[in-house]
Amino acid sequence: MLIENYDLEVFTPPCEPEAERYAARARLKVDISEILPYLNATLRGAVYLPEARALTWKKGGHNIAFHAYEIATSNVEDRDGAEKELQGLIDLVNRTWARRAEITPDTTTRQRPTPMAIFKLLPQTNCRRCGELTCFSFALKLVAAQKKLADCPPLAEPQYAEKLAALEEIVIEAPAIG
Ligand code: SF4
Repeated sequence: MLIENYDLEVFTPPCEPEAERYAARARLKVDISEILPYLNATLRGAVYLPEARALTWKKGGHNIAFHAYEIATSNVEDRDGAEKELQGLIDLVNRTWARRAEITPDTTTRQRPTPMAIFKLLPQTNCRRCGELTCFSFALKLVAAQKKLADCPPLAEPQYAEKLAALEEIVIEAPAIG
């Protein structure tokens, strides 16, 4: 196990004292920078920054950052959720560390697609079947990992097959942390 002990801090970000959203930070006693290329290889949507020894990731609207001695998550609804989310991230690091012999590390830095690039490939009918008022709102949520391609039913129709294939190439959908 890579991370055995850590100090947990749950707080309201100082820039949003009234926002009633929470952030959590685990201060680590070990340097986890060695595992970052392995996380980069396995977490879809992660952006690895080798010079900063950091990796960022979006999952379910949460902004997550892994640093050498710290893991942080933000934009969580309550304190318990923030703590649970962070524990999930610690478990993820430890699981990845245990499996590292099976993973080819990836040190590249990926670019996330822009909402406009995604919008151009959506049906653009604003049919609302995804629960959003417009296809552009859906594109914004897709970039933030708050929606998945499967949430747009029309994309499964044959006339959108090429667009769906192109979207599957550029959209990176983050898996849930188990
Ligand atoms: S379901 Fe798809 S086509 Fe309909 S509004 Fe949502 S993104 Fe646009």
